[in-house]
Amino acid sequence: MAERDEKGWIGASIERGCSGGAPLRVSTSYSGAIIEIPIFVLRGREPGPRVFVTAAVHGDEINGTGAIREIITSEPFTILRGDVVLVPVVNMMGFDQHMRYMPDRRDLNRSFPGSAGGSLASRMARAVYDAIVEPCDYGIDLHTAAVRRTNFPNVRADMENPALAKFARAFGTELIVSGRGPVGALRRSACDAGKPTIILEAGEVWKVEPAVVEYAVRGITNCLAYLGMIDAPIKKPAYQIEVDSTKWLRAEHGGFLQFHVAPGDIVEAGEALATNTSLTGERHNVIEAPRDGVVLGMTTLPSVAPGDPVCHLAYPKARALRKAEKVIDAMSDDHLHERTREDLARNIVVQDHEQEG
Ligand SMILES: [Zn+2]
Repeated sequence: MAERDEKGWIGASIERGCSGGAPLRVSTSYSGAIIEIPIFVLRGREPGPRVFVTAAVHGDEINGTGAIREIITSEPFTILRGDVVLVPVVNMMGFDQHMRYMPDRRDLNRSFPGSAGGSLASRMARAVYDAIVEPCDYGIDLHTAAVRRTNFPNVRADMENPALAKFARAFGTELIVSGRGPVGALRRSACDAGKPTIILEAGEVWKVEPAVVEYAVRGITNCLAYLGMIDAPIKKPAYQIEVDSTKWLRAEHGGFLQFHVAPGDIVEAGEALATNTSLTGERHNVIEAPRDGVVLGMTTLPSVAPGDPVCHLAYPKARALRKAEKVIDAMSDDHLHERTREDLARNIVVQDHEQEG
């Protein structure tokens, strides 16, 4: 690969074959204090692709922050070619408040590529875009479910885009949800600029969940191996299904939920997902799967009002689903997939559904 111009690049002060911090000044606080986001750059000895890995674009989604810390402190791989730009917290102002949003109540992940003369969120997005996204060739953006929900690890990418689809498959989650993402999302802006960028949606806010960190580190390692930046075999998932159709099932009554499934479970049409009861256990209704599918995410808060989301189902093709079911049945309990199902289910009480007599 040809030498690239490094003038002004954030990692230029770090020598090839070395790693180190290179903080980026993005804004000032209300009291006038300088706001910097920490950046850690890993450089290979040889030139090659440049990849950014970002976390906490939503300030309360810190599973990715934990994954990046794991990469910096445990050094699971050595970069031979190219550069990796690790950004443990993008939305520093949200992070400091344990909040998803920017202090101007805007969503940073709806503000890309941003504008230097725009709102606080828009300026911050622009600073991040110019310093991190623009000089890179590929991107991985780490997210979790929104507050009071959890997600089984899944990659999201526009699978109609061939280069992006290959990168998304290489990450190696069992579930891939196809789509471009909302307007203003970091990944959509990066992809629009010709830089294949995926997101990982895994786990929940305000936590660093060990199984999710393992998924993220494995996926990032796989992507770097796919790009030839490290010398490591790609760890393939036990199965991989791609979906473009998902649906949130919602509560019809205010009530208190008893869950019968957990994130990552495969469910059949008509299967009970949750029973909605009164606080004294009187049954309102049973929420059932309308079609065969996979539980992509669910609420972690059993108390619901009408319209509240309960269960996010993905609807893969029947053949892919049957194949996945067979593979899961044969998995050992210590497989990452199974440990993740177990770990995420700890947030919720899952009980078998009993038919009413
Ligand atoms: Zn997010």
